[in-house]
Amino acid sequence: MIFTVKRRAIYPGSFDPITKGHIDIIKRALYLFDEVYVSVANNWHKNPLFSVEERLNLVKRATKSFKGVKVEGFDGLVVDYAKSKGIRIMIRGLRAISDFDYEFQMVLTNRKLSKAVETIFLMPSEDNFFLSSRLIKEIANLGGAINQFVPAFVAKELKKKIHLI
Ligand code: ADP
Repeated sequence: MIFTVKRRAIYPGSFDPITKGHIDIIKRALYLFDEVYVSVANNWHKNPLFSVEERLNLVKRATKSFKGVKVEGFDGLVVDYAKSKGIRIMIRGLRAISDFDYEFQMVLTNRKLSKAVETIFLMPSEDNFFLSSRLIKEIANLGGAINQFVPAFVAKELKKKIHLI
């Protein structure tokens, strides 16, 4: 009998809300892994615009046609969550140099917390290189067009949230 071991990774984040940049990273991760757990942090301290349930729902809708994606919420330390699932690889997206400092700190801190989890970075396409949930929320707040940055249903939910429709 042949056993095949599934290559699994987690892709954690706030996803407040999911953008085309996140989707770009998820697709790249699926080239490398059989299962990618898109893991939505219940990080109330970041004061998210969308509740964790809303963010989970948007991620599920955005990824429903992708084979191998699992969507889950988690509380607490990401390394503990990864270990609880028996997953040793964490994916993060790397944009412009501005991400580097924070991500580097996160990797080194997570390594101190657990040696069992390794982080790998994926780069998005140049179209998505400067996209961030924060920027999109700012543009939406100022009444700018956000359809090019997020799936249409996310743009709709975002406009609803900030009372534009
Ligand atoms: P967090 O609060 O953990 O930074 P985010 O939802 O902002 O959560 O981001 C989750 C991950 O996705 C991070 O690694 C971030 O760098 C990455 N990411 C976000 N937007 C993009 C993008 N446009 N291109 C590539 N990676 C991105």
